[in-house]
Order: sequence, then structure tokens, then C-alpha cells
Amino acid sequence: MEPGGIVLLGPPASGKGTQGRLLAEQCGHAYFSTGKQLRRELKAGTDLGKAAEPYLAVGKYVPDELVLAIAFNWIEEADGSWILDGFPRTLPQATKLDEFLKDAKGTLRALLLEVPSAELQSRVMERRECTACPWTGTRSQAKASGHCPLCGGELGQRQDDDLENFRMRHKAFEELTSPVADYYDNSQRLLRVSGMGTPDEVFQRVQAYFKLH
Ligand code: AMP
Repeated sequence: MEPGGIVLLGPPASGKGTQGRLLAEQCGHAYFSTGKQLRRELKAGTDLGKAAEPYLAVGKYVPDELVLAIAFNWIEEADGSWILDGFPRTLPQATKLDEFLKDAKGTLRALLLEVPSAELQSRVMERRECTACPWTGTRSQAKASGHCPLCGGELGQRQDDDLENFRMRHKAFEELTSPVADYYDNSQRLLRVSGMGTPDEVFQRVQAYFKLH
């Protein structure tokens, strides 16, 4: 099957960013992360960033109406097939996305990365990301290169990657995003992939699911 629109679901640090970037490269799809966009807006001090700040600071999901607009605007401007990382995250977001896509909703696939919570906790503390592009990696990779291996941009730890914030985000995932996975499962659009192992090992599973070579 050739993927069309793909949404990536998974708890914090399950590898959505890494797998999304690899999949986008392989398929030539456009890639967008709502979380990363919100962090950019926050850094730039925009109205959206200011509205999202209190939620991001404590590991809560931002209200649906704030993310719906940025996700739909991006899809509208995306040329061809696309990958959305971290959207939809709630049931109302998922049903609104189906309404927005109309007939194309049938070709949508949701990829759920499954990783046990003990593993997620240690990944969160090690995680680093580029402030300018989709690169994410580990503390040791960041230390070795000093700057982003993809674009040369500044690398850093996400502001929300502390233990307490992680616990809140994980709870939000279980309460609000697990029903989204069930929603796609019930309409035969969910692919479940184990997110354990190295990024390459996980990507091999992802490729097998999408029958990519
Ligand atoms: P992420 O980079 O995907 O881990 O997202 C970081 C944070 O951004 C989340 O913990 C939420 O607070 C917020 N966020 C990102 N996407 C959404 C969404 N679709 N709905 C609500 N909040 C979101």
C-alpha cells in the first residue's frame, strides 16, 4: 500500500519525530509536528505561543481550537501527501480532521508507536532536538556533533522534557489519545508498531507495514 495522509500517534518520546522524518524522507511526503510548531511560536512570542505557554509549561494538551487551525492551515498548504506528527491527539480533533478531509479520510492511516513507559522515561531525559528543523536525537549525538547534523542549527533540550512534565504528558496520552487510536482501529485505519529498539530497527518495521522498499 502506498501511504497518502499519515498521522503519527504515540506517547511522549515514543519516536514519532524520528520515524516521521524518516518516513517523510523515504516517501517524499511533507512533514509537520504540531508540538514543534507550538514551541517555535512560544519562542517567537506570537499570540498563539503566548496562549499555548501555560499548557506546555505543565505538560497539558493545548485546547483543540488552538491546534486545529495550525494543523488545517498546514494541510491546505501542503503539496501532495503528508505526515502529521502529534495531531490529532483528542477524539474531537480526530473527528474534525475526518470532516476536513471529506472523501480523502478513507486513505488516511494512523501509525501508533507502542513503547513501555519505563523506557519512555529514560528516553525523555536523553532527548535533544534542533530548534530549526525536524531533527531529534540523543544527548550523546548532540554532544558529538555540537550542532544539528541536518541543517547546522542550534541543538537543545526541550523545555518540557523534565520528569514531572513527562508524567503529565503521559497521563494526557493515556486519557485523551488512546481513544483516538481506538477510533482509527474501529475504522480499520490503525497500524500498531513496536517502538522498541534503535530508530533503524523501528523504521524497518514501519517500512514493512507500509510495504516500502
Ligand atoms: P510533542 O512535541 O508532539 O511532544 O508536543 C508537545 C506538546 O505540545 C504536547 O505535550 C501538547 O501540550 C502540545 N500539543 C502538540 N500537539 C497537540 C495537539 N494535537 N493537541 C493538543 N496539544 C498538542
